[in-house]
Amino acid sequence: MTITLPQPTPAIPDTAIYERRESVVRSYARSMPRQFTRAEGVWMRDNQGGRYLDFLSGCSTLNYGHNHPVLKQALLDYIAADGIAHGLDLHTDAKADFLETFEEVILKPRDLDYRAMFTGPTGTNAVEAAIKLARKVTGRELVIAFTNGFHGMTLGALACTGNASKRAGAGVPLNHVAHEPYDGYHGPEVDTAELLERRLADPSSGLDAPAAILVETVQGEGGLNAASPEWLRRIADIARRHGALLIVDDIQAGCGRTGGFFSFEGMGVTPDIVTLAKSLSGMGLPFALTLFRPELDQWLPGEHNGTFRGNNHAFVTATAALRHFWSDRQFQTDVARRGALLERRLDGMAAEHGLSTRGRGMMRGIDVGSGEIAEAITTACFAQGVIIETSGAHDEIVKVLAPLVIDDAVLSAGLDILEESVRAALPAAYGVAAE
Ligand SMILES: *Cc1c(COP(=O)(O)O)cnc(C)c1O
Repeated sequence: MTITLPQPTPAIPDTAIYERRESVVRSYARSMPRQFTRAEGVWMRDNQGGRYLDFLSGCSTLNYGHNHPVLKQALLDYIAADGIAHGLDLHTDAKADFLETFEEVILKPRDLDYRAMFTGPTGTNAVEAAIKLARKVTGRELVIAFTNGFHGMTLGALACTGNASKRAGAGVPLNHVAHEPYDGYHGPEVDTAELLERRLADPSSGLDAPAAILVETVQGEGGLNAASPEWLRRIADIARRHGALLIVDDIQAGCGRTGGFFSFEGMGVTPDIVTLAKSLSGMGLPFALTLFRPELDQWLPGEHNGTFRGNNHAFVTATAALRHFWSDRQFQTDVARRGALLERRLDGMAAEHGLSTRGRGMMRGIDVGSGEIAEAITTACFAQGVIIETSGAHDEIVKVLAPLVIDDAVLSAGLDILEESVRAALPAAYGVAAE
């Protein structure tokens, strides 16, 4: 069987409109100076006829690939029938369908009892709602977040985010959050859950009683550090004993990226609150959810509001995605196999160069030691038509976020390009001693 390989084209000659009219805040477009026109499955096309293999998937927003035919058809049918596009938070067929399907396909089989809150449609708003609710319910202010955590760009969520350059954009103090060391932060010998437990148990540690502990099971932007099940169970236990709510931010690691629908499945914890966004709509449409135990549903009507809480088009595609991918085990079996393939290949690359890998499931990367080397690798990949990005405090992790529906052979072909690019970028590959 022949594999279609990427076919990159030269950078677009004329970027004047962007330089003239688009804010310099743009970021991804800088490392991928093409003008994209269409996308299908794992492929993106530019306006010069180039074809790119997408190993970024909108930062895990396109887990089911671009324009999946089943999702696209559901949306086209809905629009053709003049279905409600915007309805604030009014009851609509699309919303009822989503809630019923979510209950049937996701909650019941996992024995989870959550209420769903439709927040503003971005991840950061789901996090804002989660921490607001935790503070309201507990009457406490402090949120414990972790080193290298990423939770969004609005002030409350940004206060929970670790990255200094992102935090600097706030322009006001980001407070009421303590950043404690994540699993493995001080190396394999130090149990950071034990450190947290000691600080919370010590009335003189200076750490206030927390409203919530906010955690990613795999840190998507912060370097693909994956928490161990034991550590996560300790954190859940600490939260419970100290009267804090456990919030799992599953915006990037959820929706199948780490294997199950929720990233904490099989880890022996049931969070009090869960946030979802990115791949929830399945088609890249904005849609975020905050889930919580029914007893925590202490909001006043409209207390956390938003014009776009009823993105009905996203309800339609999300429902189609739940039915198509999550009604049986096939998709999860495929993702587990692809995740194992990805792990094997990245481990091979790491072993060749004395490096290490990070992550879990289809959310993995290779630590190449510096942001400069990582950029050289992603640039070399892009020159061969593979769209790939970095993660971590120094952007030192090259991260593979391929669509979960990717054909195994295409995944391998893309990883071949990554492997060559790693070889080309690392001096050790040429027998030159690295500094
Ligand atoms: C992307 C992300 C967010 C923020 O989502 P936006 O839609 O960009 O606001 C929050 N938490 C995690 C873990 C994320 O990956």
